[in-house]
Amino acid sequence: MVAKLETVAPRLRIDITYLVKMIGGLAVYSGFSRGIVDRTVVRGLDGLPYLPASTLKGRARDMAEKLAKVWGIHVCESPDPKTMCPAKHVAADEYCLVCRTFGMPGRSSVSGNTGLIWRDAHLVDEDILQNDNKQSPQRFFYQRTQVQISRPRGVALAKHLFTSENTIEDLVFKGRIRGWLEKTYIEGSTIPDALVLLCAALKLINFVGGGKSRGLGQCEVEFIGKIEVGDQKFEPKEVLQYVNNLGNRT
Ligand SMILES: [Zn+2]
Repeated sequence: MVAKLETVAPRLRIDITYLVKMIGGLAVYSGFSRGIVDRTVVRGLDGLPYLPASTLKGRARDMAEKLAKVWGIHVCESPDPKTMCPAKHVAADEYCLVCRTFGMPGRSSVSGNTGLIWRDAHLVDEDILQNDNKQSPQRFFYQRTQVQISRPRGVALAKHLFTSENTIEDLVFKGRIRGWLEKTYIEGSTIPDALVLLCAALKLINFVGGGKSRGLGQCEVEFIGKIEVGDQKFEPKEVLQYVNNLGNRT
């Protein structure tokens, strides 16, 4: 008898689109100053605020690590590559659930590996999409100067003036995650465990960026349409219902 060749790739195509709805202002700091502004917010090439893919992925990974620990699932120690899966395990099937979901140093979605590509989340604004491209992107930002008073003298010290930038309130951004996940399913389903973790982690994100102590960056995540898994499509709630089964896989 001739052995049957394995022709099915052991990975599944994933496509997720979601909104990040800000509750109040946002401040993903760029690390640069500009003019009198000491701390500026990141801008795209179009001058508009956006949420960098790395910021979103970092927040989601944090939430996923917390979730996995709640369910007693082994997670390696990120972000130091020396304590993460590829360095700690020999066999690929020993990689932890968080690494299988978010990737790890030295592995990417190219060349047949699994892996997800996170896109930057861009502003969704009816005005921009329709007619007023001519308006300055600057209308999406404002600056706030904090003043430190010298108590004994009761005067503001010029060197203690600090100006930072925020976005205006309640902006909405649209993000997308596409790529490939392993065919490691939640027990009794055709949904990969990594996808369940990813969707639950996204849903748990309740702030992004800096200025948390000043009430900035609060948000809610909402999925748009169905979640594509191979040639199937699932409602987000169909995927999320398995969050309690995360420890059980087949
Ligand atoms: Zn790991």
